[in-house]
Formats: sequence, structure tokens, C-alpha cells
Amino acid sequence: DHTLAVEGLTKRYGDTVALDGVDLTVEEGEFVAVVGPSGCGKSTLLRVLSGLEEHFEGRAAVDGVDVRDGGSDAVGMVFQEPRLLAWADVRENVAVGLPSGVDRGDAAARDRVDDLIETVGLDGFAGSRPSELSGGMAQRVSLARGLAYRPEVLLLDEPFSALDQLTKYEQQDNLLEVWAEQGTTIALVTHDVEEAAYLADRVVVLGGQPGTVETVVDVDAPRP
Ligand code: ADP
Ligand code: ADP
Repeated sequence: DHTLAVEGLTKRYGDTVALDGVDLTVEEGEFVAVVGPSGCGKSTLLRVLSGLEEHFEGRAAVDGVDVRDGGSDAVGMVFQEPRLLAWADVRENVAVGLPSGVDRGDAAARDRVDDLIETVGLDGFAGSRPSELSGGMAQRVSLARGLAYRPEVLLLDEPFSALDQLTKYEQQDNLLEVWAEQGTTIALVTHDVEEAAYLADRVVVLGGQPGTVETVVDVDAPRP
């Protein structure tokens, strides 16, 4: 069951309540965007779902597996900070996203990586190190890495924030294609309401009343 579910999720940092009893379910194949003002807990929500947070109250499950039980291996994640391996080139950084059983040296794996590099518009930079890339290019490497696994569930935290407008549109449309082709369940966190409404079939707002998640846009028709 390729869903996302949080129930009564509360996360505190000292006296700061980052998430206050949040309930949210994302159905299989659904694309949900989570919007809200800076500091409302969007990144924290994805960090909990990604298994990066040890201490929280409530329940969080991805792909039907409670994150406290180690989470699922069918999940791709893209964070706002690309966190690329400094001593590896673009090709190697994307290959990190391949499933652990895959031999990165075999022809199909190399083709997959090259295709992804092309899709994010970085052909010609496959042999470059992160220090040779702009912030937007690094973010696109991170996107390619997140897609390498052909994940069933994709968690995206502001994945387009460092891209110029034109590149952003290209990568947004690329994501919609992946979604349409692979039926990926997607949770995207963004402060950009327009981006959310363009991409998602449901937009939820975090951080109105404590703990409430309000659906503001609900487009039934799948796209593209
Ligand atoms: P958003 O992504 O919506 O901007 P965050 O999830 O980053 O919000 O942060 C939610 C709240 O939790 C903010 O008040 C933020 O300052 C606080 N916070 C987030 N991470 C930490 C941390 N590691 N230590 C302390 N406070 C944090
Ligand atoms: P404007 O007319 O205000 O310049 P655009 O039509 O260029 O607005 O884009 C509106 C929003 O649609 C953008 O902010 C963006 O999030 C989203 N968008 C993404 N990809 C595309 C696309 N290929 N065509 C149009 N809009 C897109």
C-alpha cells in the first residue's frame, strides 16, 4: 500500500512546537502539496516521514510501514539542501539513488543514470564535481538521485527552490510525467502556492489552527 499517513503527529524542539497533532493521509498515486508559511512545520513533517527524526509523538507511516520500524525502501526523498557527495561526480551522485541490489557498473544502471542526467538537463556535466555546479544544478542532481530508484513514494521538500523560472517549469513538468507514468504517491512541501496548485491534485495548508490540515484545492482529474 503506497500511502502516507500521519496521525496526531506532534514534534517539539525544546519549547517550540513545530507540529501540533497533525493528521494527514495521502492515498496511493495521489499527489499532495503541503503549503504554509515559513516555520509552520513543513520540513519537519517530511523529516519525520523520512525517518530523520527520532523523537515525536503520534504515528507516521510511509508505504504502509511505520517509520519507527525502519520505513520502506521504496521511498525517494529530495531535500531542499542537495547534500551531494563532494568527492563524487554527478554520475556517481545520481547512482547513489539506485536500489541497493543494483550493480552500478552494469549497462542498464549506467543507462538509467545517463537518462536521468539528461532529463534534469545536466548532460555534459556527468563528470563534474559538486563544487563545479551552481546551486540550481546541484538541486537538479538531487532530483535525479531521488528519481533513480523509481520510487513508489516520493517525498519532496522545496525541490525547485534554487531553479530559475524556465528550468523550474521544465522540471515541474518532468515530475508530472514521472507521476503520470509511474503512478507515484507524492508529498511535496513548498511555500509557493502557485506551484502547489499547478502540480498537485490536492493542496493542504499546514499551520492555520494548531494541528489542522485544511484542503484548499482538490482537483479530481489526474494530469497531464
Ligand atoms: P517550515 O519548513 O514550514 O519552514 P520547519 O519545519 O523548518 O518549518 O520548522 C518548524 C518550526 O520548528 C520552526 O519554528 C523552526 O524554527 C523549528 N525548528 C525546525 N527545526 C529545528 C531544529 N532542528 N531545532 C530547533 N528548532 C527547529
Ligand atoms: P505568469 O503568467 O504569471 O508568468 P506562468 O503561466 O508563467 O505565469 O506560470 C504560472 C505558474 O504555473 C508558475 O508559477 C508555475 O508554478 C506553473 N507552471 C509550471 N510549469 C508550467 C508550464 N510548463 N507552463 C505554465 N505554467 C507552469
